[in-house]
Amino acid sequence: MSFKADILTLYPQMFPGHLGESLAGRALERGDWSIDAMQIRDFASDRHRSVDDTPAGGGAGMVLKPDILAMAVDAVSGADDKRPRLLMSPRGRPLTQQFVRDLAGGPGVVIVCGRFEGVDQRVIDGRRLEEVSIGDYILSGGEPAALVLLDAIVRLLPGVMGNEQSAVMESFEDGLLEHPHYTRPQDWEGASIPPVLLSGNHADIAAWRRAESERLTAERRPDLVKGKKKPAKG
Ligand code: SAH
Repeated sequence: MSFKADILTLYPQMFPGHLGESLAGRALERGDWSIDAMQIRDFASDRHRSVDDTPAGGGAGMVLKPDILAMAVDAVSGADDKRPRLLMSPRGRPLTQQFVRDLAGGPGVVIVCGRFEGVDQRVIDGRRLEEVSIGDYILSGGEPAALVLLDAIVRLLPGVMGNEQSAVMESFEDGLLEHPHYTRPQDWEGASIPPVLLSGNHADIAAWRRAESERLTAERRPDLVKGKKKPAKG
């Protein structure tokens, strides 16, 4: 059984978006993964097919109604569905490569894309939606966030990437940022490729890359280095 993504959104035409192109798109055509985008509005029953209402307690904006959204969730994900139900949300658990890897190893995902001010808390609780954030900034809707999450997952699915090796050498896979890359020409605008990379000595090359990874990580992301430290003894 291949990886299956069900998306609940007010803009189903945004999917598969860029995931219909390139390696992800070819994998989609082959059936290595599948995606269905369901229109939340299809579950609204009033004359105006409204999906949102004003916030209880007052304030700006609108809130996605719990009854409509719950019907949409139930339509794609029954009680026996083993897939995690995610809600894209700036309040959510920060998306990491480890979480992406866990999701890619599972049967698929159900993703709710928020809009307006967000969704009624009761549907988050009642349908056990796990909130996931792609970063500390506010998007106008969950759709681009869902596409980011899916992009990161799909490229890890078996058979999707041409060169599987490049997926294990990447930034974050070992908790470090990746080393710099070079290719021909050997001299360009007065700058040359570091000689060690042309030495043919694989051990030296590996050591140089590791040292560069550690240097860049310490410089740019000291938070990652700190995270790797073992707890002090005692
Ligand atoms: N009022 C909310 C923001 C709503 S933004 C707040 O202050 O927390 C509208 C929708 O965009 C959200 O419901 C969510 O689905 C999506 N969204 C916005 N920023 C996001 C982020 N950083 N990560 C994931 N989803 C995001």
